[in-house]
Amino acid sequence: MSGGDMAKPLLGHRSVEGDHSVTPAAGRTIGVLGSGDFARSLAIRLVCSGFKVVVGSRNPKRKAGLFPSAAEVTFQADAVKKTDVIFVAVFREHYSTLCDLADALAGKILVDVSNNTEINHHKESNAEYLASLFPACTVVKGFNVISAWTLQSGARDGNKQVLICSNNQEAKRTVAEIAQVMGFTPVDMGCMSSACEIENIPLRLLPAWKIPIFLALGLFLCFFTYNLVRQVIHPYIREQKNKFYKIPIEVVNTTLPCVAYVMLSLVYLPGVLAACSQLYYGTKYRRFPDWLDQWLQHRKQIGLLSFFCAALHAVYSLCLPMRRSHRYQLIETAVKQAVEKKMNIWVEEEVWRMEIYISVGIIALGLLSLLAITSLPSIANSLNWREFSFVQSTLGFIALVISTLHTLTYGWSRAFDENQYKFYLPPTYTLTLLVPCTVILAKVIFSLPCIQQRLLRIRRGWEKGRYVKFVLPSATGEYSSGETSSNV
Ligand code: NAP
Repeated sequence: MSGGDMAKPLLGHRSVEGDHSVTPAAGRTIGVLGSGDFARSLAIRLVCSGFKVVVGSRNPKRKAGLFPSAAEVTFQADAVKKTDVIFVAVFREHYSTLCDLADALAGKILVDVSNNTEINHHKESNAEYLASLFPACTVVKGFNVISAWTLQSGARDGNKQVLICSNNQEAKRTVAEIAQVMGFTPVDMGCMSSACEIENIPLRLLPAWKIPIFLALGLFLCFFTYNLVRQVIHPYIREQKNKFYKIPIEVVNTTLPCVAYVMLSLVYLPGVLAACSQLYYGTKYRRFPDWLDQWLQHRKQIGLLSFFCAALHAVYSLCLPMRRSHRYQLIETAVKQAVEKKMNIWVEEEVWRMEIYISVGIIALGLLSLLAITSLPSIANSLNWREFSFVQSTLGFIALVISTLHTLTYGWSRAFDENQYKFYLPPTYTLTLLVPCTVILAKVIFSLPCIQQRLLRIRRGWEKGRYVKFVLPSATGEYSSGETSSNV
């Protein structure tokens, strides 16, 4: 099954009432085996959605009080007799204790809702194991990605998708209908071999964030070490000055904007590389190398981490004047000024530099916030393709240009001052400019009409040196075929 098919809801927004080929889901009796957290939340949701619920427990008397009064709580054997669709809300290790019910369960649909504690914990998925214990039943995997909490609070509060798979289409359709009546969006994940993948989903820890987080940490470590050497180690070795107090705030605060700025440029660099590849090969149908593909897919996370670092930088910068060290330095400067009988220390150029630098920084942060907000699925879904691409592509690029201005006004002429080269190391901001300026330059080159036109044609399917079959009518009215090059 293709990715596109898998993303489609099994029933879409089709009304269940309108489909007469199946029994209307609401109103039918649903069985639940087990009386734990999941069973209880499931029973509440099912009752609220108009289903009759019968709960099978080993100790119904003790558990009945935990369920809504509309749900019938009875012994397991009694419950399975009363319904054809049974949710097995029991852990995998206890499946075998249900084997006594095998005869009563024959021919019924069992919904396996279980999760594991580790990814690929067992050789076969829990659903396949359940199917092997009850060969006369039809097993459907589903609902495991929904927590007991989401079930209780309703589909509005949490993930709405219920991933479903089974080897039996009819059973899958029945469970999908139940999910839809409960307010969830069923997603067809194909046959039972997908159960393992579905069971692994709740156990994955931010899979799309791993590479971007490692990238951000790597950059942070590199820039932090570089700044530490320049701001703390150099004065200690060369002038025996103790500047270690700078580590928690000043060094971190000079590192964060470096990471934010470089990460922002890394959002746009893969697009530049992809465009270069398309221009070079003259086609958009050639696959990008895997690393570039991965990089393109992680742009959103890289951008959000860039915003996170920029926001932290803003907070740290606002806190700089609160520090005791800053107050001491202010007083020290004032005393020095008094001793030297200096009346005016106003430097017009410095004042302007600072005003512009801060203002541009605030604008860059505002644009980054906009990019971050529009990358949230709920906001992104409300934008059409053009609006989304305007914000993410055009405004994003403008944010990169403004961040570059912020960096340049911060650095000003320091790159040309030899006192700024500590241990021959150039100021950090000069290093950070490398990738963003390359991206900006490449974008400017791509916007030249001759290159832009070629890129546009390639992206609309034109290919360099591709021969296209054509068919021409002859003078006699018959058709003759030939070949031509599409780039002629
Ligand atoms: P739980 O609170 O521990 O409930 C498990 C239930 O299994 C017990 O209440 C018990 O009910 C029943 N059971 C049947 N035979 C058993 C046996 N031999 N030994 C022990 N208990 C037995 O667990 P849960 O959180 O509801 O989870 C149930 C299933 O749902 C698990 O497979 C879990 O992976 C899945 N799940 C849970 C959540 C969640 O948020 N909790 C989310 C997704 C999936 P009786 O004593 O009445 O028989």
